Amino acid sequence: MKVAIVGAGPSGAALAILLARQGARVTLFDDGRRPELLVGESLVPAVVPILQRLGLEEETASFSRVKPGVSFIWSPTDRFSFSFARFAPGVFPYAYNIPRPRFDDAVLARAVACGVERVVTHARLTPTGEDGRELGLAPETLAAAPSLGGRQPDLVVDATGRARLGARALSIGAHYGPRKDVAHFAHFEDFAWDDEPGQVLIRRLDAGWSWCIPLRERLSIGIVLGRDDAARLGAGPVERLERAIATDAWLSTIGGRSKRVTSVATYANYQLISHRGLGPGWVMVGDAFGFVDPMLSPGVLLALRSAELVADALAPFAKSQERPPLAELEAALRPYATTQTAMLTAWLDLVATFYDGRMAALFRAGRDWMAVGTNAIKNAAQNHIERHIALQASGMGTLRRYSRGLLRFMGRYGLRGVEPGQMAIR
Ligand SMILES: Cc1cc2nc3c(=O)[nH]c(=O)nc-3n(C[C@H](O)[C@H](O)[C@H](O)COP(=O)(O)OP(=O)(O)OC[C@H]3O[C@@H](n4cnc5c(N)ncnc54)[C@H](O)[C@@H]3O)c2cc1C
Repeated sequence: MKVAIVGAGPSGAALAILLARQGARVTLFDDGRRPELLVGESLVPAVVPILQRLGLEEETASFSRVKPGVSFIWSPTDRFSFSFARFAPGVFPYAYNIPRPRFDDAVLARAVACGVERVVTHARLTPTGEDGRELGLAPETLAAAPSLGGRQPDLVVDATGRARLGARALSIGAHYGPRKDVAHFAHFEDFAWDDEPGQVLIRRLDAGWSWCIPLRERLSIGIVLGRDDAARLGAGPVERLERAIATDAWLSTIGGRSKRVTSVATYANYQLISHRGLGPGWVMVGDAFGFVDPMLSPGVLLALRSAELVADALAPFAKSQERPPLAELEAALRPYATTQTAMLTAWLDLVATFYDGRMAALFRAGRDWMAVGTNAIKNAAQNHIERHIALQASGMGTLRRYSRGLLRFMGRYGLRGVEPGQMAIR
C-alpha cells in the first residue's frame, strides 16, 4: 500500500513510523519549517506509552525534563497541586516537558530510519474524483516524489496541523469552541524556582492564564488571553509578555529577574473540531482533524493517538501490493474518526470546567471540606473524585463515561457553596 502523509509534525511522523513498520510504502512531505520555538512542550502521562511503542522514550528522555505533575495556582490562597505518581497505576506516573523542535526532529529521524521517504517541499492538495470528495496531491507535489511514479497514492493523510490543508481544499467546515485567544511565549534563563523540578505551573491571571513549563535548562513562560486584553497589555508580543510577568505578583517572583533567551512566539489559540475527518482515499490526523485548548496540554497526545488509531486501522492493508478499494479503506477508518471526534469533545468538555471556574471551585470545596476534619470515609470520597479527575486530565481515561459523569455531577452538586463564577478565567 502506498501512503502519502503531508506534514512531518508529531502526528505525521509518528504515523509514518507505524505504517512503515507494518510494511506500507510511505512518502512523508515535510515543508522543512523549523522555527526556533514550537508550542506543545508539556506532555500528558498518556503520551509515554505511545513513545515506548514508537521506540522513542529513551531518546526523548535524553533531551527533556521529567514532568512529575501539575499545579494550578488560582489565587494567593488557592493552589492545587497534583503528582501523577499518586494516581498510579491507573495514571502513568510521569510525563515529559520537551523542547518541541528537537522532539519533532527525533520523530522524523526515526521515520526516515524506518524506511520512510522524506520529500522536502511545501505540498499542495487538490480535490479529485468525479464528485470532488477525494483528495489528491497537486501535480507539482506528486512530481516531487519520484517513488510515486506520477500515480496518486492509495491514501493521502492530512497531517498539516493548523494549516488544515485538506479541509481547505475540500471546503470542510468545523465546529468551533468558545475561546478565541492569543498566546505569547518565550524561553528564559536565570529564573527563580522553588517548586519541584519539572512541575508544570498553570496560573490564573487577571485576564487569561499563564504557563510555566520547566525544560532542561530553560523555563518556558507563556500567556494565553483574549485579544482585547492582550491589546491592553501592550502593542506587541514582547511588551505584552514582559508586562504580564512584571504585573502579576506571583509570576514576577519566578520570571521577574530572568533573562529572555529566545524571541517571543505568538499563536492564535482557538478550539476546533472538523466536521469531517475522512473521505474516499484520505484521512486527517492530529491538529488537522481538531485542536483543543492548550491549558491541559492534550495536543501532542491527540496527535500521537490519532497516528496509532489510523495505523491500527490500516494494518490489514499495509502489505498489500494491490490498491485497496476506497470504500473498504473508508469503512476501516470510520471508527477512528468517531473516536477522535469523541476524544476532542471530551477534552473540550473537561477544559471548559477550568475556564468557567467549576474545577477550581470543586478543588476549593474539597480542600475546605477536608480541613474541617478527616475520617476514612471522607478520605476515600475525596481520593475517588481526584482520581477520576486525574484519569481524565492525564489522558489515560478522558473518554471514561463514569469519570465524566462524576465530574458533571460534582460540578453541579458538589461545590458546597463555592461560586464557580469567582474562580472563572476571563
Ligand atoms: C498556545 C498553544 C500551546 C500549546 N501547548 C501544548 C502543550 O503544552 N502540550 C501539548 O501536547 N500540546 C500543546 N499545544 C498543541 C500542540 O502544539 C499540537 O496539538 C501539536 O503540535 C499537533 O501536532 P500535529 O503533528 O498534528 O501538527 P503540527 O505540530 O502543527 O505539525 C504539522 C506539520 O505540518 C507542516 N505543514 C503544514 N503545511 C504543510 C505543507 N503544505 N506541506 C508540508 N508540510 C506542511 C508544518 O510545518 C508542521 O511541521 C499547544 C497549542 C497552542 C496553540
